[in-house]
Amino acid sequence: AKKAVLGPLVGAVDQGTSSTRFLVFNSKTAELLSHHQVEIKQEFPREGWVEQDPKEILMSVYECIEKTCEKLEQLNIDISNIKAIGVSNQRETTVVWDKITGEPLYNAVVWLDLRTQSTVDNLSKRIPGNNFLKSKTGLPLSTYFSAVKVRWLLDNVKEVQRAVEEDRALFGTIDSWLIWCLTGGTNGGVHCTDVTNASRTMLFNIHSLEWDKELCEFFEIPMKILPNVRSSSEIYGLMNLKVNCKAGALEGVPISGCLGDQSAALVGQMCFRDGQAKNTYGTGCFLLCNTGRKCVFSEHGLLTTVAYKLGRDKPVYYALEGSVAIAGAVIRWLRDNLGIINSSDEIEKLAKEVGTSYGCYFVPAFSGLYAPYWEPSARGIICGLTQFTNKCHIAFAALEAVCFQTREILDAMNRDCGIPLSHLQVDGGMTNNKILMQLQADILYIPVVKPSMPETTALGAAMAAGAAEGVGVWSLEPEDLSAVTVERFEPQINAEESEIRFSTWKKAVMKSMGWVT
Ligand code: ADP
Repeated sequence: AKKAVLGPLVGAVDQGTSSTRFLVFNSKTAELLSHHQVEIKQEFPREGWVEQDPKEILMSVYECIEKTCEKLEQLNIDISNIKAIGVSNQRETTVVWDKITGEPLYNAVVWLDLRTQSTVDNLSKRIPGNNFLKSKTGLPLSTYFSAVKVRWLLDNVKEVQRAVEEDRALFGTIDSWLIWCLTGGTNGGVHCTDVTNASRTMLFNIHSLEWDKELCEFFEIPMKILPNVRSSSEIYGLMNLKVNCKAGALEGVPISGCLGDQSAALVGQMCFRDGQAKNTYGTGCFLLCNTGRKCVFSEHGLLTTVAYKLGRDKPVYYALEGSVAIAGAVIRWLRDNLGIINSSDEIEKLAKEVGTSYGCYFVPAFSGLYAPYWEPSARGIICGLTQFTNKCHIAFAALEAVCFQTREILDAMNRDCGIPLSHLQVDGGMTNNKILMQLQADILYIPVVKPSMPETTALGAAMAAGAAEGVGVWSLEPEDLSAVTVERFEPQINAEESEIRFSTWKKAVMKSMGWVT
């Protein structure tokens, strides 16, 4: 059959905490042509521990690439039109692998994992000066970031210790692990990361854009295991999958974009100007506001992070970030741990049945509380229960919790930035939930705006890949970025009611704190 001519296409791997996707876009129109998605297992070997299998993650990428290519073939689209591939990934999640065998030396320690709390407590006793970490990294000392996870692996896993001693160990976040494997692995794989992912390790100086010797000394992490840091948009290497791998159809295509998922979403939402912000509702919830070329430090519990650097010679942009650990994860918990729903989208039906939480509040502080509290002693609570409360109210309270947590980080953002956001651009898996989106508009009391093409994370990675020097099929000039069609949710309740609900939420948050000492 004759293949449709479309112009250059760009693929994107979107490796999230819940699932992996591969998506293919038309670089001229930003249209999504085809995609495939595979859910990823999470293992909880002990209370507070969260792991994933790096090999399963890699296999899921192969599978998604293969299935997407099959779907494109069925659409009569020639996959040789795919000119570049971008990678976006769950951030902070830590892998150490053996460069000789290509095998991971331990499971990936996921960003949500709490095993490093005692590592954090010990390190906090010997920080050289109050501002040492924040001024270099923009981050607070927490179980969240990669450095303490690597420290834990070095302290607790013999295979990792031995591999480091024998010069066989490589460290990376998921982007590094995937790019190394996709560019050949033991057969010449490229060990690199981009500035956005590096900025989440706590070993990276966000001003000099280099690994920081003092930070590595503080965490006692050998610099030889760290990946090379590159910009978010340049050719890192070519797809090189060795023998008969399923994703072989893309052999030789350059991998030329790399962004942590939240940075990718910021790019995909076209938030290129100072003061533009987006909130992504996935496993967690992450509100990022572009602060331009300035590194702004928060007075209200937000992080300072690298937003993107779209080319080797392009300037770096920074963002303020409000991170919420548990958003979609609470829906997955209601599905997997309580069994009150069979699939995440069923939550909407339950919540709709009642249309109110009836005074029930659910603080899902499963991993302590992140922004703006940074309170590791918090644990989840469901409160305000009566004889009348049923699973529908709890479902509703779970959705409302996501909105209240977003309200807290938006308030912090408005205080830090001075100019309140006039609307909120949103994306992520949870934004398919219309009740959630309406609740969010009600609780923020500003309009919530959702692009009709919700895969903004992948789009951002594809844009970076397509725009890279030597690829040049995607233009990032503002006038070339086609107008995005959106769905808008306007606030419908009155402001007073919204405030009362929010202040009761805050009472519930106070009760969630101090559960573990
Ligand atoms: P991630 O990027 O973290 O992998 P996604 O953006 O893919 O996450 O979103 C998946 C999360 O969204 C899951 O935690 C899932 O429970 C939740 N989710 C998916 N659909 C819905 C829905 N209709 N209502 C509420 N939550 C949902």
